[in-house]
Amino acid sequence: MRLLLVEDDPMVGAAVQRGLRQEGHAVDWVEDGVAAALALRDHPFELVLLDLGLPRQDGLSLLRGIRTEGNPVPVLILTARDSIADRIAGLDAGADDYLVKPFDLDELAARVRALGRRQRGQAEPVVSHGALTLDPAAHAVSLDDRPVRLSAREFALLQSLLEQPGRPLSRSQLEDRLYGWGEEVESNAIEVYIHGLRRKLGAGWILNLRGVGWYVPENP
Ligand code: CA
Repeated sequence: MRLLLVEDDPMVGAAVQRGLRQEGHAVDWVEDGVAAALALRDHPFELVLLDLGLPRQDGLSLLRGIRTEGNPVPVLILTARDSIADRIAGLDAGADDYLVKPFDLDELAARVRALGRRQRGQAEPVVSHGALTLDPAAHAVSLDDRPVRLSAREFALLQSLLEQPGRPLSRSQLEDRLYGWGEEVESNAIEVYIHGLRRKLGAGWILNLRGVGWYVPENP
């Protein structure tokens, strides 16, 4: 998933970015509310991780602003303010979930997965498509009940394609899902991951619509 992390504490920010990148997410990190509002205007994020105490514009007012603009992006509040009143204010301002600092990175990763499922309207944590099964929590893929070892990027790419079988995603859409700002993207990186997936799963699992993009067949 493409995530926006809004956090002014450098240690917390670096740890969250590193941890969620290891999970295969593209994590862009900004350190104040104004930069976050600009980022949200310009990029399609799938989830926002939002600290409340921020320079320039606090998290609560940022959240009210994006909801007023009609932006439905799921928001998970990360806050050191553990008073019940702050949590209620956050949820009432349009947040979807919250975590109180200090939190465990594994719990954060699990909540991110849960919000991703909810956004896709998918209740089942494990994705099954024909003989293919993808388990986001275990980072495991199996084909005909046999495990298939994928790299973190191959996994993230397959997960993106499995969100909507039959609908192609373009190179730039896939790059947006897989990479954050400032991450070096080799010009043929997506082709390399597609090639890896075809080799491991079989060429029929990832099809190309010339000039449009790649997709997983609707009826494999
Ligand atoms: Ca803060």
